[in-house]
Amino acid sequence: MKHTKTLKVRIKDRHLSLLQQMAWSVNQVWNYVNALSQRAIRERGVFLSAYDIDPYTKGAGKDLGLHSQTLQEVSREYVTRRQQFKKTRLQWRKSGGVRRSLGWVPFKSGAVKWKNGQIYHNGHYFKVWDSYGLAQYRFRAGSFSEDARGRWYLNVVVEVEAEVPAGQDAIGIDLGFKDTATCSDGTRLEAGRFYRDLEPALAKAQRARKKKRVKAIHAKIANRRKDALHKFSRQLVNRCGVIIIGDVKSSSFTRTNSAKTVYDTGWAMLKQFLSYKSACAGIVFQAVNEAYTTQACSCCGAISAHSPKGRAGLGIREWTCECGVTQDRDLNAARNILALGHERLAGGIAASSGR
Ligand SMILES: [Zn+2]
Repeated sequence: MKHTKTLKVRIKDRHLSLLQQMAWSVNQVWNYVNALSQRAIRERGVFLSAYDIDPYTKGAGKDLGLHSQTLQEVSREYVTRRQQFKKTRLQWRKSGGVRRSLGWVPFKSGAVKWKNGQIYHNGHYFKVWDSYGLAQYRFRAGSFSEDARGRWYLNVVVEVEAEVPAGQDAIGIDLGFKDTATCSDGTRLEAGRFYRDLEPALAKAQRARKKKRVKAIHAKIANRRKDALHKFSRQLVNRCGVIIIGDVKSSSFTRTNSAKTVYDTGWAMLKQFLSYKSACAGIVFQAVNEAYTTQACSCCGAISAHSPKGRAGLGIREWTCECGVTQDRDLNAARNILALGHERLAGGIAASSGR
């Protein structure tokens, strides 16, 4: 089952002048339609429909800097309001002065897209504060709108999958360097896979000191990572009833590691996605202290002499415990994390107070 909801995100202020210009154009169209409609009523006794009006505004979009479908949307909205208020003429939209109309630019389904981490509309990109993870949605119709403080927003209707009944899997997740996330059932999210192909280009741009190009490649990498994290978290939430994640304290890593911030960002993002998607699906999502989850054997619980410890142990990918089981570092940690989570869920608050 699918249903729709309207998302509203704020557009960054750097786009103000363009948006104001678009709003001015919409006002021109509105006022033109207002006059046209009124004249038809007065002179011919005809109430024009939006369909009647379309030929009059057709082709004006280019000069006005508006999407052609925005013109149609303005006419549609006009006719709806005219019928609603049972008037032969509506108020003029004012672009200036104290009675200025707040900016409004409608668009139809397909005219606004999520592209390169930004809103794309009619040849322009708009940066937004993406509080929803817009990449995961398919946009339908909507509008750009201005509030009384002069801030602009994108309002867009999106299709939402009605939450499928949550699966029953229980998964522990270990956050790591090599793989961004390793699950207790062996599923992995390999971070590097999403940008390895861009690394040569990045290195080349860095050597040539092409700042803009470097920035662009970094942005592309960030987008891909975000996209991957969205898909990964969505799959997990769909098939799980319980998700336990190891809470990594970033302080436990070397301060000299320049890549740390990159990992931090990915980890924080994954946690955030899992958190709100789990809440939405009504499944359990918990973070547990990941201390010792790398060192202890997930089979016997012992901390073996061979298990990875401290900074020196960072390179140990695989080790064999005294109990005879060979452990993959991250998979073992993920299993311990899941076991910790189960303990806490079984023991309730009391068990978790010790951490
Ligand atoms: Zn063991």
